[in-house]
Amino acid sequence: MSDEAFKGYLSQFRNENGEVFIGETRYMIMPIVWLKDIQLELENLMGPSGTFALFDTASRRTAPSERALAAIKDLPFEHKIGAFFAQSALSGFGKCEPIEISKKPFKVVFKSPSSIFAEAYEGKADSPRCYLFASFIPYMEAIAKQEGLDIKLKVDETQCVAMGAPHCVVAITEDTGDSW
Ligand SMILES: [Zn+2]
Repeated sequence: MSDEAFKGYLSQFRNENGEVFIGETRYMIMPIVWLKDIQLELENLMGPSGTFALFDTASRRTAPSERALAAIKDLPFEHKIGAFFAQSALSGFGKCEPIEISKKPFKVVFKSPSSIFAEAYEGKADSPRCYLFASFIPYMEAIAKQEGLDIKLKVDETQCVAMGAPHCVVAITEDTGDSW
């Protein structure tokens, strides 16, 4: 997002008695470290078994920890992807709906709900703008590796709300190096 677009986005916020709104929708604004604490709390409540460790992935935009990978090691491929979507929803990406999941060739296509970032363009952007989905790559590459595929992945946003589409559609596929 350009600096100008970012300022435009910020200017939409309205303060009403200490509550923050865009239009009629009330927003919660918090440091991402708060989300991390929620994850730790959930782990304490639910034990170390689960996919909650994956939360770090979505909030820090890094590859999943060894612990997180060990926790999901025996899950079917589709469930590993689903677990990530659940965690990314918790971390503020919204609920991504899988459209196509294939291990070989690696292909994860999903629909993302609209975001205030994309909506800020009012459908007038001339290219997709949801760059944050690139942060999904470290996790997806780690899963591919766990499944025996040592490949690089790339993100293509094929539809974007910023360009006027009803929702964003994102495809994560192998980066063979022959595209831009
Ligand atoms: Zn988009």
